[in-house]
Amino acid sequence: MTDALRDQFGRSIEYLRISVTDRCNFRCLYCMPAEGLTWLPKHDILSYEEIARVVEQLAPLGLRRLRITGGEPTIRPALARLVEMLRVVPEVEDIALSTNGVRLPELARELRDAGLDRVNISADSLRPDRIAVIARRNLGFDPVTAASAAEAGGLGPIKLNMVVMRGINDDEIVDFARLTLNHPWHVRFIELMPVGGLRELTAEHIVPSEEVLERVAVLGALEPGGGPPRGNGPAAYYHFAGAPGSIGVITPMTHTYCGSCNRVRLTADGRLRTCLFGDHEVDLRTPLRADEMLEPYFRRALAEKPKEHALLQLRVGGLRALSEVGG
Ligand code: SAM
Ligand code: SF4
Repeated sequence: MTDALRDQFGRSIEYLRISVTDRCNFRCLYCMPAEGLTWLPKHDILSYEEIARVVEQLAPLGLRRLRITGGEPTIRPALARLVEMLRVVPEVEDIALSTNGVRLPELARELRDAGLDRVNISADSLRPDRIAVIARRNLGFDPVTAASAAEAGGLGPIKLNMVVMRGINDDEIVDFARLTLNHPWHVRFIELMPVGGLRELTAEHIVPSEEVLERVAVLGALEPGGGPPRGNGPAAYYHFAGAPGSIGVITPMTHTYCGSCNRVRLTADGRLRTCLFGDHEVDLRTPLRADEMLEPYFRRALAEKPKEHALLQLRVGGLRALSEVGG
């Protein structure tokens, strides 16, 4: 087995986020405008066979971990078929899914049987009326039911991701933290990122993670550690003494993780993005459809992966919606 590929700054790249669709059954305030976005035409979107071919070619170069995301990945038909195809790639050690959780109660078992290892569920409120306001859709989503279904389906450790928005859902920070006292779930508080083109949210809505940690301390003293055994990402974890779950904070607005970035992203239409922010990307779909080898394109993308992004300096809109870039 070859060592992981390194980019020009020596970071080993072993983690690929795969967006399978840019569409979604929600319209979260922080992610999409109410009217949606201009969706990609169907023929531009990689087929499951094409996605599997990308992974088959990149895995021998060092890719080990995959995350299926979107848009909302579970609205693409027969997602379990893709999971099956990715599971048989020998070098792939871990396959995770990021989902808004709406379809998890019906899909958890099937996805597990297909070879999915675990899920992250986005959950910004525990109150049905508020979920409908934040997601701008009432689809009967209940985070606790979705997380329980995923857990029962064997998709643990469960991570619940809450984007904290001042004046919108920050009064539920403690309620989410309390879940970790009774469930082996990892509740992660994400700092809101100001995505361009969204009218309802501004920098005033950002709640720094330091404040989140102070506020959950009403439940008890936090101790460092206790996070999931295999974290791929930038969360810092804490736990309450004796609690089965943990609290994580993800702080894109107050810290940068670029020095330890191990990831690249494949957009639904087959572009390899080496940074979530900025516009750097390499088209893989054209060579893929021309039956060319992808290795030179992958190497070129890594050679050009930026050292860091400028989000901390920006603190204003101008980012693309995360649903478009496989956030
Ligand atoms: N639809 C799936 C979901 O919601 O989990 C997967 C795609 S979604 C773009 C991936 C993650 O990005 C979610 O956890 C979501 O909360 C987060 N996200 C989207 N826009 C964001 C923003 N402006 N600030 C912080 N997190 C954001
Ligand atoms: Fe859809 Fe996920 Fe974006 Fe919400 S965050 S609109 S669920 S893609």
